[in-house]
Amino acid sequence: MPARETEAIILKTFPLGEADRVVSFLGRTSGRLRGVAAGARRLKNRFGSTLEILSHVQIWYVERETRELVRIQQAELLDSLHKAQSDYGLSTGLAVISEIAELVLPEHEVSEAMFRLILLCAREIERTGNWELPLSYFAFWTVRLGGWLPRFDRCAACQAAFDAGPAFYDARRAGLFCGKCRRPGMKPLQGEARALAERFTGERLDRIAYDKSMRGCVDELRAAAFAWIELNAERRLTTPELLETA
Ligand SMILES: [Zn+2]
Repeated sequence: MPARETEAIILKTFPLGEADRVVSFLGRTSGRLRGVAAGARRLKNRFGSTLEILSHVQIWYVERETRELVRIQQAELLDSLHKAQSDYGLSTGLAVISEIAELVLPEHEVSEAMFRLILLCAREIERTGNWELPLSYFAFWTVRLGGWLPRFDRCAACQAAFDAGPAFYDARRAGLFCGKCRRPGMKPLQGEARALAERFTGERLDRIAYDKSMRGCVDELRAAAFAWIELNAERRLTTPELLETA
């Protein structure tokens, strides 16, 4: 089979045998694929630093008819996330993006919107040296692109319009709920956090200036989006816990 070529984002890698790596990547024209990078664990190898988490690369691979994994022949770095990848705190932010992308993207399905979203958010973590706003934006847009975003203006149970106060959610039920319909254990999403969601809908991440006064609503909106991702993927996310230690 002839080699194929695509622009790609490396999602995750893990060791295979003594010398190789399995690489999960999101190809712009191939969708999410998994492949083997032979020799990638050797000290001197032709992949260099191209297989780091969320690296933006050009990748060449060969499909093998009978196997699930493609063979990765070559990868070249298109732009660097060196600062974020080599910093523990920032790399946990990249790991959250990677885990969510793995969870929500079906294999072999092209998603230009998710490709651009991941690229934008990873670059902003690198550029600003902070994951707080980029991760909120990423999680919110993942929910929106997935079609899982509840109504932000009225209660999912009784249909009452929200005022400026908190609405409530959890990872067990779809929707946002009013104070009367909230169940025990539900978390609040304040009016400011819902207003931030409006901004995310209309403005590009790299045009939103982040200051620390936004932190509370940025955190709240991110937590709500994580809950809706978990609800729809029917899986718990494991990497957000690491953020607290970063
Ligand atoms: Zn209600």
